[in-house]
Amino acid sequence: MLQMFTSLEFLRETTAAWRAAGARIALVPTMGALHAGHLALVKHAQQLADRVIVSIFVNPTQFGPNEDFASYPRTEKDDIAALTQLGVDALWLPNREAMYPPGFATNIRVSGITERYEGAIRPGHFDGVATVVAKLFAQTQPHTAIFGEKDYQQLCLIKRLVSDLDMDISIIGMPTLREADGLALSSRNRFLSDAQRAIAPLLHQQLQWSQQQIGQGHAITPALNTARNALLQNGFHGVDYVAYVDAETLAPRETYAANGRLLAAARLGSTRLIDNIAVE
Ligand code: AMP
Repeated sequence: MLQMFTSLEFLRETTAAWRAAGARIALVPTMGALHAGHLALVKHAQQLADRVIVSIFVNPTQFGPNEDFASYPRTEKDDIAALTQLGVDALWLPNREAMYPPGFATNIRVSGITERYEGAIRPGHFDGVATVVAKLFAQTQPHTAIFGEKDYQQLCLIKRLVSDLDMDISIIGMPTLREADGLALSSRNRFLSDAQRAIAPLLHQQLQWSQQQIGQGHAITPALNTARNALLQNGFHGVDYVAYVDAETLAPRETYAANGRLLAAARLGSTRLIDNIAVE
């Protein structure tokens, strides 16, 4: 049965009892508006652990002043139904005051990994992510936590955070779940018009094309430029970046080396899409 918690005190009481009974606990942090990608993380968590906690918190501190915090989709009823159906044990639903009570003054910044790409386009975003995830870890004290590769830079940041702060939590990254046409599932896809939705899969297609070019030994920078131009010429309104990076450090690369990743972000109207794929 899904137990819902809005009070940290009750959440802690319950999870302490689980730990005392020797249960292994997994956390799946989300901002709600759950789709099949989120649910795949939850199902994997259920395989890894005896008890699964899903958190839903639309974290204001990871949104910039001109971003979509107010309009971010909130579908709590449907989310609860989906988690109930999956047999999730606990839903942690902190409100803003529980997360950031008056006087809250701590900021966690993971440098290096966060400085380019999403971090450069969205100043402060990753400080918000690092701080809230550290809090979610402290609140739920999981043995393991599951994140999607969809937010690849975020996943790298969380691994760094946990390692740097000696948190005894195993971080698992799960492959991106996609629509049949390749578009990565995202809570924001619902904002795409039909015309934009038809264009959206091009982001993944251009990553695949770039992956092939790099695999065949073509020069990196021209390939990335061609991909960027293809997006702009076929209906994307802006391209924030198309980058080929080291899969661990996220340092940009100009020549091929093992263990690489392609990262991209582009805009369709007011909706921003991000995606990434491995280059092995
Ligand atoms: P969000 O609610 O967007 O913050 O995402 C919560 C978690 O779900 C994050 O770890 C995301 O990386 C992950 N996630 C989002 N979309 C997908 C997807 N299409 N496939 C797999 N995981 C995803």
